[in-house]
Amino acid sequence: MPEAALRRLRFPVAQSLGRRYPEVPHSYRNDFQRDRDRIVHARAFRRLEDKTQVFTPGLSDHFRNRLTHTIEVSQIARTAAAVLGLDEDLTEALALGHDIGHPPFAHSGEEELDRQMRRFGERFDHNLHSLRIVDSFEQPYARFPGLNLTFEVREGIAKHSRDFEPGEFPELEEYLPGQRPTLEAQLIDLADEIAYNTADLDDGYSAGMFAIADIAREVPHYGGLAVAAEMQFAGASERVRFLESLRGLIDLLVTGLIEGTQAAAGDSRVSNAADVRRHPERLARLAPAAREATAGLKTFLRGRVYFSDPLVEERRRSAEMVAELFQHFLGHAERLPESHQPGPEPPHRVICDYIAGMTDGYFRRVYQQELGRITPGV
Ligand code: MG
Repeated sequence: MPEAALRRLRFPVAQSLGRRYPEVPHSYRNDFQRDRDRIVHARAFRRLEDKTQVFTPGLSDHFRNRLTHTIEVSQIARTAAAVLGLDEDLTEALALGHDIGHPPFAHSGEEELDRQMRRFGERFDHNLHSLRIVDSFEQPYARFPGLNLTFEVREGIAKHSRDFEPGEFPELEEYLPGQRPTLEAQLIDLADEIAYNTADLDDGYSAGMFAIADIAREVPHYGGLAVAAEMQFAGASERVRFLESLRGLIDLLVTGLIEGTQAAAGDSRVSNAADVRRHPERLARLAPAAREATAGLKTFLRGRVYFSDPLVEERRRSAEMVAELFQHFLGHAERLPESHQPGPEPPHRVICDYIAGMTDGYFRRVYQQELGRITPGV
């Protein structure tokens, strides 16, 4: 694979549209390096440690949480960016920030907050919430609100997992609607997908939800990796053979991301970062084998993990608790902390922001204190 094959498409830090509030340049860190560091030092970033990814802790100390998931996404995205010759610092900043607006209890928390907000004609969207965090809720600076991140990092957050057209999201009109984000930002969605599919497979296997043979039967390209691990490491435990085959699967997917992106960029004939933005489609892609393996993995995980009885029950219970606490604060705004009193913002918006910022642990403590019931689980 040619080294740095897409260097021509790298977004040059010198062409950044910059920060909302101008700042003096740092003597040895460029703007994307500073953005990465600002995210790592943010309180919202540290809270990821106690936010559920898929499996809640309790059964095992080894499941991913949203922080370890974020680190895995960053590692995968940086590897791909480095091989392709893209900007590793921008990629890393985007990867580290990609889930910073995630509410407690993973997707059930997100869906329930959205359900509550729809009653008021509004929505909860974790990408928009991430922007609110980096633009206003984090307040470490005396001279301006938020982290004052560069345009490209904020745009990457706004376009995480979707592009949009002019007029589609009035609140995102400044983020070049109708255009693609930088190629670095495009890598994040696929790195995220590779990270969570393979991590959920690992965590599901560790939780005893299936065996190697089950994956081999249902996931294209995995069977060959399992057989190779079996032949090469016949004396190893099943767990170690599983990890050997999982490593092969991650490799297949990451290589697929690198090669698929390179092929799409070649076919498109784009020649610089500005062309990447104007191109009608995203250029970050998986090569065909990686796409097939991903589709098979998703189907497998849906059936064996996400819609398994224990996880469905856990999600139902989490959503119910989020709804109860939301309802409780609607009737008792005086119980909200000083920092989250309704003012210019209506009560439902303030309550939504307050709950969305909570860790799982803090949510449980507030729930217990306000509703006087011990939450099930941890
Ligand atoms: Mg993620």
